[in-house]
Amino acid sequence: MASAVAELPLPAVLRYPLATPVGRFRPSAEDGARARLGDVIAERFEAGGGADAKPIEVLRAAASGRIERTPTALLLHPDGSAERAPPLQAPSLVERTLEAGIVGLGGAGYPTHLKLRQALERNAHALIVNAVECEAGVNADRALLNHHADDVLHGIHAVADALGAPRVTLAVSAPLPAAIDVATQVVDGPYPAGWERALTQRLLGVEAPPGGYPTDVGVLVLNVATVFAIGRAWRRGEPLTQRVVTVGQREFWVRIGHPVAELPLPPRVAIVGGPVTGWPADVDAAVGKTTRAVTPRPAVATSPCIRCGWCATACPQGLLPQELWHEIAAGRWAQTERLRLADCIECGACDLACPSQLPLLAALRHAKSQRMEAARRDRAANLARTRFEARNARLAARAEADRAKRANRLQAPRDWMRPRSADAPRSNQPDPEPHAP
Ligand code: SF4
Ligand code: SF4
Repeated sequence: MASAVAELPLPAVLRYPLATPVGRFRPSAEDGARARLGDVIAERFEAGGGADAKPIEVLRAAASGRIERTPTALLLHPDGSAERAPPLQAPSLVERTLEAGIVGLGGAGYPTHLKLRQALERNAHALIVNAVECEAGVNADRALLNHHADDVLHGIHAVADALGAPRVTLAVSAPLPAAIDVATQVVDGPYPAGWERALTQRLLGVEAPPGGYPTDVGVLVLNVATVFAIGRAWRRGEPLTQRVVTVGQREFWVRIGHPVAELPLPPRVAIVGGPVTGWPADVDAAVGKTTRAVTPRPAVATSPCIRCGWCATACPQGLLPQELWHEIAAGRWAQTERLRLADCIECGACDLACPSQLPLLAALRHAKSQRMEAARRDRAANLARTRFEARNARLAARAEADRAKRANRLQAPRDWMRPRSADAPRSNQPDPEPHAP
């Protein structure tokens, strides 16, 4: 691909963890099987979905090679061949987006086909393409606009056509060097200016309801990398297998599954994500669909909370991060619910504000994932209980029906026992033998 963004060489192995922050993938490729570039190798289903559930996300091989299944991840050993899966075929944009494996590439990871469907159902009248990068040094979206504006435009037109000519706004954090054929707005508000709720309010003057989303008020917000991926999938039939990532201080095309340890970074511990919203990479971390940046981690010395309240002042959601920090540390989960942990948008503004350098965001994420896992277990247990009770009710109803049938049979007089009237037509059965006295 001719591009001013360099492509990283193929690593010796690509790694796809099965457990992700948004849910668990089920491998669809067998151990030892060969995959082509673009083949589906794993699928993710709605939590609690039954055996006949349809996938809500697919994961596609970012190279051709041999699959190795491990308990926690799929490994793909590239064989160097350029064999590709056939181009995507789905005729509608919603289905094509699912087929391509596209999710919110700005960081949310929400399946884009679901978001598109919601926007269509609510007759969305506006589309905001979000290229506002609030974290210093992260320029992946900018690189796409600078070097791949044509595919971004194809994506914008594809979504706009599907929605039926909405008002389109491209939101950027700095003026673009070249004109692009879409209304562009430079957004330079306080951090996190690129948060879709704040963006909708700022650009269109409408506010999503508390706990709701911009689609609830007829506005579809898509990250520019997501729109780019839609453009590629719709125009060229290409699935999502790579993305632009800021690695240290440069942008590269990186395959999904590329091990973080093999990125061209100084030999220091890395952060997956930007300097504010990223989290420490573990030894076998890999670039995922939502990885916008991988950043070398600066050494920081933390000190105890001094109750200054700066984190609460910085929080755009009006939360009390310091209180959440103390409750999480004590494992008092019920209290975290009272403090509205679920409303945290993981922007990291509290981390930035904290003079004690406490890893507030990491603690909040950990707590949210614990709560989500507990909720998932509860949902699965409830579903299993409902199914068990429904089965018991079915069996009881069947047993009752059998019992009633048997009772009817015993009570119903046999034909030959019924008194026969003189003019009743005679049965062609022989009359029963009279009983012996
Ligand atoms: S990460 Fe969560 S708690 Fe911290 S400032 Fe952002 S929304 Fe508030
Ligand atoms: S900013 Fe840091 S030190 Fe200040 S109250 Fe919040 S957690 Fe405590």
